[in-house]
Amino acid sequence: MSLQPRPTFSESWYRVQTLKPRLRPGAQTSRQFYRGERWYVVRDPAANQYHRLSDAAYRFVGLLDGNRTVSEAWELVGGQLADDAPTQPEVIQILSQLYAANLIETNIPPDATILLRRHKKQQLQKGKQRLMNVLFPRIPLWDPDWFLKLTISIWKSFLSPIGGIIWLIVVGTAIAVLLPHWDRLVQAGKDSLQFTSSFDKAILMYLAFAAIKFIHEMGHAATCRRFGGEVHEMGIMFLVLFPAPYVDASSAWTFQNKWHRILVGAGGMIFELFVAAFFAFLWIFTKDAGGFGAAFNMFCYNVMLIASVTTVIFNINPLLRYDGYYILSDFLEIPNLQFRSREYTLGLIKRHLFRVKWSQPLPTPSARPWMVFYFLTSGPYRVFVGFMILLLVLYQLPAEVQIIGILMGMASLATFIGMPIFSTTKYLLTEPELHRKRAPAIAWTLAFVALALGLTTFWRVPVTVTSQAVVLPTNLSNLFPAAIGYISEIRAQDGQELKQGDVILVARNEELESGVSQLEARLRGAQVRLSAAMASDVSQVGPIRDEIKAITEQYNTTKKQFDELTIRAPIDGKLVAPGIENMGGAWLEAGKPIAQVIDDRELTVFAAVRQNDHERIEASGKQYRTQVRFASDFMKVYDVPAAMTEVPPQATTTAKHHALTTQSGGAIAPDMSDSSGRKLAESIFEFKVRMPNDGTMHYVPGQRAFVRVVIRDKESIVMQTYRSVLQMIQATQTR
Ligand SMILES: [Zn+2]
Repeated sequence: MSLQPRPTFSESWYRVQTLKPRLRPGAQTSRQFYRGERWYVVRDPAANQYHRLSDAAYRFVGLLDGNRTVSEAWELVGGQLADDAPTQPEVIQILSQLYAANLIETNIPPDATILLRRHKKQQLQKGKQRLMNVLFPRIPLWDPDWFLKLTISIWKSFLSPIGGIIWLIVVGTAIAVLLPHWDRLVQAGKDSLQFTSSFDKAILMYLAFAAIKFIHEMGHAATCRRFGGEVHEMGIMFLVLFPAPYVDASSAWTFQNKWHRILVGAGGMIFELFVAAFFAFLWIFTKDAGGFGAAFNMFCYNVMLIASVTTVIFNINPLLRYDGYYILSDFLEIPNLQFRSREYTLGLIKRHLFRVKWSQPLPTPSARPWMVFYFLTSGPYRVFVGFMILLLVLYQLPAEVQIIGILMGMASLATFIGMPIFSTTKYLLTEPELHRKRAPAIAWTLAFVALALGLTTFWRVPVTVTSQAVVLPTNLSNLFPAAIGYISEIRAQDGQELKQGDVILVARNEELESGVSQLEARLRGAQVRLSAAMASDVSQVGPIRDEIKAITEQYNTTKKQFDELTIRAPIDGKLVAPGIENMGGAWLEAGKPIAQVIDDRELTVFAAVRQNDHERIEASGKQYRTQVRFASDFMKVYDVPAAMTEVPPQATTTAKHHALTTQSGGAIAPDMSDSSGRKLAESIFEFKVRMPNDGTMHYVPGQRAFVRVVIRDKESIVMQTYRSVLQMIQATQTR
């Protein structure tokens, strides 16, 4: 109970004190413990409505039998005398809530109706509920209770300690079996992108999705039934026009044991992960199959992924109102966590800043930090997810139906900006609890708004574009052997500084060696014959000279090939040849690169800049500077003037290095149909930033870097937001 003094009396009491209400017949109550406090859940089975009451409130409600007046019942629970008895304002609130939930019946005079209906939040919730029913309609199709009762022994044995151990073994084994196949798992992920691109396969995947989600819902239903809850409704709901199964397992709310409620919430995931494990085994088992087997293998992979990854991403996350939210709510023993977190956190402002007298009981001290934390994280997170979905829709919609995107954008603005402004204004201007405190409350709010506006308008921060890059020496030479042969000598080490012409490797090719010596011998023979002919038979001189010329040509070619067996540094620089010391005896193949010689006195950073960022940089003229960070020395920032940056006018779809693609941990999606790993799915602009090496930069082949182009040193947040929104609109129009 709160330490705050609560007003015992209410000036509206006269309106309710003579009422003789009673709980609707058939309303069932059950007892629960939350954080050591006793609570009661009142359920109306006909309308499937629930309401939670505190112990004191329930003692009061229990006295309402249709003959006693509200005033008599209040006196009986202790009225103004007992400390933990509900106060008059609390009694009005309890009655309002039960009335709104349709759980009490009474002959109410009109003025009392108005009072009880004043419970605005409940009304607002109802309005929201109606909106939700339009946006996410639910169509009940099946009453699974008889089926669950018939099969109860199966669920009882599965959802038991032994079943739990079996589940852990199966899912654990699946994970253990999958881990060694990690590479294959990633590869299958890439292949599956192509798999779902065809229409009939997409239909197949959707059916698999629906089947898995049906199993998920059966998980909730079976767990609920296993602990004694009735499950009477199963059907189809629409998630943004996307049909998916649902189940109504809300009877679990009446369970006394919180772990049973948590298990019902987790039941969907428990069943789904079991299915995922089963398909993981199938996937491993059929991994080498061909033909139809390969397609089946791909199918197993996708089912495994849907049943594991999606459930973990969406269902466990308690910041969205999926299973994880209800599990957390039960675990923390804070029912209606989202609403109450909001009430409590905003209540902190109302009580401490606006000095509003608080008539509602406060949550237990241990629950309060959780509520503030939950409110501060879940609100922004939901706004973020909302805008991400909006952006996704904006970019995916064909241009002809762009109006849908615009409408959605306006709806989002209304929800995330318009509604809070409207409700805050309404609260400040009309809320009765602000009586005689209205002026300071408005002053506080205006001060806060002024601060926020001031910060976003006058606080200026740099305008930047960031992109990933790869570092290469400006002067780099790949060593491609021109001849073929066995490596016989290794004269240089990895990392060694070389001068142009220094020998790195010597290879042997006996055929070439004997070819050279044979040609030398033939040449010598021909020259001997030439001298003889010049002395005796002058007519032979011409043909022999021609022969010498032909042999010399042949000799030069062969000698050149022979010389190429000795591999030399083409430029001054450092040898990059990891593992060169183990190359003795290896076969040199013509045209296959074996090493690099790099001159790291100047490095070039190649940044992959996206189209819209490129436009922003172009629009700035040459008034920008560039900051570069190397992945290997992240704390050091190099400032490079614009003069050292080359901005190409043309876009490209080939990355300078595969390290820039998402396949190697970069930021840009590669073109999956290409095997080089450097073709990109989108076109980029390749910025070159030349950086003289003062000796501190350490070149690592394929090293990633981060490039930040500072376009304008200072601009307010408002202007920046305005510019990016403008750009987004332009981007969707020029598509
Ligand atoms: Zn679920």
